[in-house]
Amino acid sequence: MPKILIPTPLRQFTAKENAVTVPGGTVGEALDALTGRFPDLRKQIFTDEGKLRSFINVYLNDEDIRYLGKAATPAAEGDTISLVPSIAGGATLAETVAPALSKDAAPALSNEEILRYSRHLIIPEVGMEGQQKLKAAKVLLVGAGGLGAPLGLYLAAAGVGRIGLVDFDVVDFTNLQRQVIHSTKDVGRKKLDSAAEKMLAINPHISIDRHEVALTSENALEILKDYDIVVDGTDNFPTRYLVNDACVLLGKPNVYGSIFRFEGQATVFAYQGGPCYRCLYPEPPPPGLVPSCAEGGVLGILPGTIGLIQATETVKLILGIGEPLVGRLLLYDALGMRFRELKLRKNPECPVCGAHPTITRLIDYHQFCGVPRQEAAPAQEAKVNDGEIDVTELKQKLDRGDQFVLLDVREPHEYKIASIPGAKLIPLGEFSKHVGEFDKDADIVIHCKSGGRSARACGILRQAGFAHVRNVVGGITAWSDKVDPSVPKY
Ligand SMILES: [Zn+2]
Repeated sequence: MPKILIPTPLRQFTAKENAVTVPGGTVGEALDALTGRFPDLRKQIFTDEGKLRSFINVYLNDEDIRYLGKAATPAAEGDTISLVPSIAGGATLAETVAPALSKDAAPALSNEEILRYSRHLIIPEVGMEGQQKLKAAKVLLVGAGGLGAPLGLYLAAAGVGRIGLVDFDVVDFTNLQRQVIHSTKDVGRKKLDSAAEKMLAINPHISIDRHEVALTSENALEILKDYDIVVDGTDNFPTRYLVNDACVLLGKPNVYGSIFRFEGQATVFAYQGGPCYRCLYPEPPPPGLVPSCAEGGVLGILPGTIGLIQATETVKLILGIGEPLVGRLLLYDALGMRFRELKLRKNPECPVCGAHPTITRLIDYHQFCGVPRQEAAPAQEAKVNDGEIDVTELKQKLDRGDQFVLLDVREPHEYKIASIPGAKLIPLGEFSKHVGEFDKDADIVIHCKSGGRSARACGILRQAGFAHVRNVVGGITAWSDKVDPSVPKY
């Protein structure tokens, strides 16, 4: 009876269970038993043809089953099967990625810098030469948010001489719980300015390049090419694939980290012919399945832990010391306070880093991930399309006393924070079970926090033949903005 570990994003389909023991002599039989017990899970992880979807990897203990016997891999009592979905992230000795420095080219340290870095200089593995490598190094941080905050602070303090920041966001109140590089007084400021100010306050001997843009296929190669190392601190799949492909094409190491609720992942991709993000996850998850931190939440401390693992790997790569986190995916579970390590292999068929790559230039990553482009410009007034309803119209319907059903597909703990009067709560994970309770001709309006989950619930009803179903544009957040400001936003 092997045990199957269920990752957080999939627990909504397993009645919130995080580990399930199932009968089965092989991994395939165990997965069949699991998805037989939880049919909604089957649709998420298998295609209609019964093939495992490629945004999910299956491990038996610490080994990817693609490199064992695939579904026929024997699994026995005491074995652990892990489902490892991508989340909105062989030991070789490290060689420095910094350019080789001749004695003359190495940047000299002033007496003030020598005093500042004294605790580095007296470690033999760093020393004067190592500190000069740090000073000569150029590191690009993509994102000045949750992961970027600890990365920026510590890489600045460590004396990384040139740090590029890519971000076009402004600081928001909801950022302050984890993005410790920004202060309450910075709310409304550009994250770039706020972050650069803190980093230079810690260490005025470094220089910071501010790239106030969204990283795109058009600008990525131009921006990345000047740096030795790229650190991925992004929060969305299109940018992750973009950063990965650009790093592979340019031959730059990609220090990866990702976070969700209490769990994180970290590794170093594309380092000296090692595996890349696409070797691990050839395709992104279907839009909406893996919620972002804005939808799913994140423990404020978690990006600190993962960001500092990324910072550690970055400094090791610059110094050329230790064993880099290459060919290993580090999984961190804050609730269990456990680190696990899974083997990562280069996929010879990888479309970007394999023997016969099909991706030889940057592509349209929003189209690839099936998600709309996030614009750098301020959000336009949301357009109301067919099958949608604006919060103002919803308010009028409620005031008129129209006959209709108002559903809220968020989670019970969100309902406790704020709700719209008269809405009936049915969390999205249980929604399919309740479809039979409604009249197919009824006028049904569905909302969630900002419109994503309710759009999926509308889709479920329409597929079941419901004729009059509408999604509330902007969800309860728009309700708070436009109808009732006393409803708290979260
Ligand atoms: Zn690859």
